[in-house]
Amino acid sequence: MSAVAIPRQSVTSTTDIESTDFFAAGTWRQTNKSVWLTCPNGHSDVLDDHTIADDGTVTPSVVCPYDGCDWHVHVRLEGWSP
Ligand SMILES: [Zn+2]
Repeated sequence: MSAVAIPRQSVTSTTDIESTDFFAAGTWRQTNKSVWLTCPNGHSDVLDDHTIADDGTVTPSVVCPYDGCDWHVHVRLEGWSP
């Protein structure tokens, strides 16, 4: 199965992560502690329980935790630097 490439959203400060308004759908971002992924429907989740390979491939596949959202994909983080 081919992975979906997710573009990176830059973060200007770690406090921005507290604002849900800041989360752009279909992007990922990294804080000093966690990698965050927002599904195309605008739901955000941390990838703390996932492994990210050197090329940005996320293992296992990502399932959106929100009820009623069926986003479930293999993800590669575009612009990932290990
Ligand atoms: Zn979702």
